[in-house]
Parts: sequence; structure tokens; C-alpha cells
Amino acid sequence: MAIQVWPSLIIRPATYDDVALALSTLYSLNVPIRIMGGRHSYGGYCSHRGVVLDSALLKKLEIDWESETITMQAGLIWSEVYAALNGSEYAIIGGLCPTVGVVGYTSAGGYNSLYSRSYGLGSDNVLSFKVATYNGTIVTASSTSNPDLYWALRGGGRGNFGYVLEMTHKIHRINQTNLPTGQHSFLSITWSNRNDFRAVLRNWLIFVDEVANFDTRIGFDVIIFTNSENSFLLIYGSFNGPHADLESIFQPWLSKGPKPDIYTVKNFTQFEVITVTGTANYPFPVKERQHIVSAMAINITEAMLDVLLESQPNTTFQISQYIGVIYLHDTNKDKNTAWAFPDITFDIAPGFVWYTSEDDSTAINIAESWLKRLMNAAAPTGSIVGGYLNYIDPYMDNWQQMYYREHWDRLREIKTVWDPTWYFRFPQGIPPNNP
Ligand SMILES: Cc1cc2nc3c(=O)[nH]c(=O)nc-3n(C[C@H](O)[C@H](O)[C@H](O)COP(=O)(O)OP(=O)(O)OC[C@H]3O[C@@H](n4cnc5c(N)ncnc54)[C@H](O)[C@@H]3O)c2cc1C
Repeated sequence: MAIQVWPSLIIRPATYDDVALALSTLYSLNVPIRIMGGRHSYGGYCSHRGVVLDSALLKKLEIDWESETITMQAGLIWSEVYAALNGSEYAIIGGLCPTVGVVGYTSAGGYNSLYSRSYGLGSDNVLSFKVATYNGTIVTASSTSNPDLYWALRGGGRGNFGYVLEMTHKIHRINQTNLPTGQHSFLSITWSNRNDFRAVLRNWLIFVDEVANFDTRIGFDVIIFTNSENSFLLIYGSFNGPHADLESIFQPWLSKGPKPDIYTVKNFTQFEVITVTGTANYPFPVKERQHIVSAMAINITEAMLDVLLESQPNTTFQISQYIGVIYLHDTNKDKNTAWAFPDITFDIAPGFVWYTSEDDSTAINIAESWLKRLMNAAAPTGSIVGGYLNYIDPYMDNWQQMYYREHWDRLREIKTVWDPTWYFRFPQGIPPNNP
């Protein structure tokens, strides 16, 4: 991360009463706070030079196999949840990165490029939240209890409305694959000749349009990696159906385009996807510093492909660029949430990686101007409709519209009810009306 901010005091509540006491005391003393979960905010918004309430001790989880639900406390990270489900046939919609926190991920939408096409976004799967408000009052938000808060926390949340103490999510039995203990099949396909990349992407986009958009068992995560020495294009696909169907579904697509250098198909559980090394053949360098941007796209045009396939200048320092194209067609299963992107098919989310703090501003400039070129390329067709709240970009112009679209006014009204004095405040946070 390019953004590193160190708090003056970290408080670690161990119980919900501790959270309530901390909030009521700090609010009455007018002490600003930030809430910290898995610490993966790309804007560093879980921290500041003041008091931080860190959920690290709130680690309980409870699985109810009968109702197919799990209740998770705010300090859990996804690897802990996947480990608890491992060995069963169940999966949950969580992050692909094992150390992302469960609340920060879910309350901004939360997609899983391998499972969301089958089971929706993280926020679609939350049945209820327990929340501590600014003055320490603890409330429940669900479809029947405080439904406005429930709506807002599913896609518009991420620290805006209160301290989420716990969430109850649906879990999903993986039985369509006929594989042991809830495995999916995963394809890892890599091309390393840069001259092939455009043809590979065009061919993939046709497959998406003609086949994958109509078959929600198929998930994809595409990475185009470039640095000064080499590049590769990796398409990582998942299939939530019988292994026997794989060849007949994917081979007609692959046989039309340039031949890949690596093609593997393996079966993994959700826990294995994040723990088995070499699953995706990622030849990444060690990441030191990183800036990520995001563009929610309805489609990808030829003009946008030109930008996706650019190489970055690399004259004064070593910079790597990995363009993530996450396939999200039809992943929003519950339309009655604050998630603002039911119409998109891709999140184009490039990350830029570099090594020393002296290069921060140069690298961030490269990333931001890359995003502007992509937006310009998309402008004539209106293909880009926003940015992803979970890939928060502190330099984003017009972020209110980009993150929330037509939900902005309603979210402000809900904020006015639940946090009228704007106690939960951070850059790019939702303000109440008349703060
Ligand atoms: C390596 C990496 C991989 C990622 N992969 C994915 C992915 O596959 N899919 C995806 O959708 N996103 C992904 N993300 C984005 C990630 O989901 C967001 O950055 C998310 O906000 C991180 O949550 P956190 O709890 O880890 O971070 P934090 O920085 O601790 O929190 C993020 C925000 O949520 C607030 N917050 C945290 N806990 C609470 C709480 N209990 N109550 C209220 N507010 C709270 C914080 O104040 C902060 O504003 C990834 C991020 C990284 C760095």
C-alpha cells in the first residue's frame, strides 16, 4: 500500500459491551475514531492519527447446518471462515484474498470472481447485521428490523452507518459438481506471447457474450500482467458443474483462439483455492507498494482493449502493472440492496506495483492517468458506469456518483437517521444531510 497511517491509540474491544462503552464514551468526549477490520482498505480508511477501534479480538463464528447459515463476528478474516467450512460441502461468498476482513468486504458489495456468478455478492447473502450506533446503542438490521439500515449496509456500508459487530450469512451447498467436499473445477490458462493477447481477449469476450452470460456456473478472473521484462495473460476460470461437462463447454472457445502456453484443470474446495500454492500460476514479484483503480463496465469495446493492452513507461523505476478483469455478469442476485451495479458485466481493476516510497507519486500518477484514458475510451459508448467501493480510490473524481450512482440521495437520508452528527467520518464517506 502507498498509504500508511499510524494511530495514536488502538482499542481492541473483546465484547459487544466493550464496543458500546467505547463508542458512547468517545462520542460524548467528541473524540474522532476509525473502525479497523482486516486492514485492507486501499485508501487506508481504517486508520488515522487518532483513536482506532480494532475488531481483532471479535473472532467468534457459529455455523448452523440446519438453516445453512453462519454468524461471524467483525474481527474474522476470510481464511478463518473458509477453514471453519472446510471439510463440509459448503461455501460462502467471501474474498479471494485470505486476509481481507469479513465486514469491510461484505458491506461494500463483496464479490468473489469464482463463486459469485452462482451465489451472488457477499451483500446479497447477508440475512442480518448486529450494529453498534455512534452512541453505543446496539440494534439489529434485517429485512424485518430496521430495513432501511439493512438495505444501506448491503452495498453502501463500509464504515458509514455504525460499527458492525456481527453478520449472519447464507452458506451454499456445492452439489452440482458431483465432486467430494464441495469442490469446484478450476481452469488456469496462460498465454505469454504479448502479440497474442488481443486475439485471446477478443475470443474470450465472444465466449462471454455467447455462452458464459447464459450459464451462471461459469466464473472468470482475467489478469494481464506487464513489467519491463515480461508479460502474460492469465484467465482463471471456475466451473460449478459436473467435471464431465468441462471439455464440451470450454474447448470450442479455446480451440478458436491462440494456443495457450499453460492449461490446467484442478478441483479445489474454497479453502484450497486460497491455500494451495500454484493454483493460478501467478508469477508475481514481491509486492512492496500498490495502487489499485476500478472501472465498472457494461461491456469492453475495441477502444478499451487498446488501453487494456498498453505497456507502461518504465524509464526511471521498476513498475509492474496487472490489469484485473473480473467477470461479474448477473452476480447481483438480490436487487433490493444498496449495491449500485446490477447492470455491469466486468470490473476492470488494474493494480500498479512498485518498490520505494520515492516513486509513490509517479506510480500513482501513472495509475490515475491510465484510468482516465480508459474512461475516455469508454465515453462514446457509455461502457463505464462507475467504480467499485471496495477498490476505493482516494483520487477518484466525482466519487459520489461513481460509487453510489442513483442510490446516493437515499444513502444520505439513511445516514441522517443513523449518524446525524457524522461521527463515523472518513474521506469519501457518506455525509448526513445538513451535517
Ligand atoms: C489483496 C486484496 C484482495 C482483495 N480482494 C477482493 C475481492 O476478491 N473481492 C472484493 O470484493 N474485494 C476485495 N478486496 C477489497 C476489500 O474487500 C476491501 O478493501 C475491504 O474494504 C477490506 O475490508 P477489511 O476489513 O479487510 O479492511 P479495513 O481497512 O479494516 O476496513 C475497510 C473499511 O471498512 C470499515 N470497517 C471495517 N470493519 C468494520 C466494522 N466492523 N464496522 C463498520 N465498518 C468497518 C473500515 O473503517 C474501512 O473504512 C481486496 C483487497 C485487497 C487488499
